[in-house]
Amino acid sequence: MSNRFHTASDEEILQGKVTDVYFQRTLQVLKQKGIRRRVVMEVAAKSLPRNYPWGVLAGVEEIVHLLEGVPVTVRGLPEGSVFYPGEPVLEVEGYYDDFAVYETSILGFLCQATGIATAAARIRLAAGEKLVFSFGARRMHPAIAPMIERACYIGGCDGVAAVKSAELLGTSPVGTIPHALILVVGDTVKAFRLFDEVVEKDAPRIPLIDTFNDEKFEALRVAEAFGERLFGIRLDTPSSRRGNIRAIIEEVRWELMLRGYSSVKIVLSGGLDEKSVKELVDVVDAFGVGTYLSNSPVVDFSMDIVEIEGRPLAKKGKKSGRKEVLRCPQCLSGKVILANSSPDSSCTCGGVMKKIVIPFIKNGKIVDSVPSPDKIRAYVLQQITKLQIDEEEVKE
Ligand SMILES: [Zn+2]
Repeated sequence: MSNRFHTASDEEILQGKVTDVYFQRTLQVLKQKGIRRRVVMEVAAKSLPRNYPWGVLAGVEEIVHLLEGVPVTVRGLPEGSVFYPGEPVLEVEGYYDDFAVYETSILGFLCQATGIATAAARIRLAAGEKLVFSFGARRMHPAIAPMIERACYIGGCDGVAAVKSAELLGTSPVGTIPHALILVVGDTVKAFRLFDEVVEKDAPRIPLIDTFNDEKFEALRVAEAFGERLFGIRLDTPSSRRGNIRAIIEEVRWELMLRGYSSVKIVLSGGLDEKSVKELVDVVDAFGVGTYLSNSPVVDFSMDIVEIEGRPLAKKGKKSGRKEVLRCPQCLSGKVILANSSPDSSCTCGGVMKKIVIPFIKNGKIVDSVPSPDKIRAYVLQQITKLQIDEEEVKE
C-alpha cells in the first residue's frame, strides 16, 4: 500500500494482494489438503444496470496483463464487444489454485470499465453526430482517471479532458477554459485574450460565457472580440441559474447567427446525462459529460466454475459446461451454445451467426497483441450503429 495515496500498486495487484480473504483461505485449505483441480471458470452478468438491454465490454486488456505469466488459458469476447445479459464474456481455464487469488481483481477490472464504456456508448448514440467529451475525471479517485477515460473513449467519446488519460490513449486532451481563469483575470474577454495569446494555436478557442453576465451578451462580446478565430462558446451554467437551458441556447444561437457568427459551436457541460443529451442534441454541437460517465453504475459480473476436470459442473442457478457465444454480424443478435456443439447458426434476420470468442492467453503466454484504443473504439461504433435505443427500456 502506498503511504501517500490509498491505492494498491501494480505490483500488489499482480501479486494477488487485492483479493478477498476467503480466496486466500480457500487456497490454504486446498494446498494443505493436496487438492488440485483443473477448472473452467466463466464471467457473465445476469442483468445490466438501469435495465440496459446490452453492454459494451471493457477492461479486458488489464486482465490480459494481470494473467500474463500465470499458467492459465484465457478466452473471451474482444474488448469493445457488445454483449447481452447471460453471455459469458471471459473464460479462464487452469488449476483453480493457480488463479483463484485473482478473481477479485478480474471482476473489478471488468465491472467498472464495462459500466463506463456502456454508458459512453449510450451517450454516443444519444448525441448522434455531435461531439462528446469526457469531463468526469474529477469525480473519481485520480489513480483511476486514465482507466475511466479510456473506457469513455473506447465507448464512443470523441475526447477526454485529463492530460494523463489522453497520454494513455495517444490523443490530445480536450478542454476549454475554467471559470477560475476568468475570475482571476476579472473579465471574460480580457481573460480569453490572454489565453489566445499564450496557449498553443491548435487548442480550439472555446471561451466560457456564463461567469459574470448574461449568456447572450457575453457570447456576443466574445464573438465580436475574436470573430473567425472562435471555435465555439461553452455554457456551464449551474442548474440554479439555468431556467430553460434550451431556450437560452436557442437565443444565444439566434443572436450569433443574426450577426454572422453562424459557425460558432455551442459546447454544453454541467450535469448532463443520456436524457438531457437526447433532449438538446438538435441545439448543441458538443457535450462535455462528467459524473454520468465517470460514475456509471458497474456491471455486476460474477465468475463461476462451469467445468471441473473436463466434466460440466456449476452451482445452482448457473448453466454448466464450456460455452461459445454466437453473434449475427447483421443485426447483432446473440446466442449462447455449448462449446463443440454444432447448432443452427441461422439468424431470424436472414444473417448467419458467427463464433466471436477469441483466445487471449494460452498457458500464460499472450496470444495476440491487444488492439489500440482507436481500433477498439471503431469496433464499438461499428456495432452500436446497429442498435436502437428504445426510450421505454431504460430505468433511470
Ligand atoms: Zn441477425
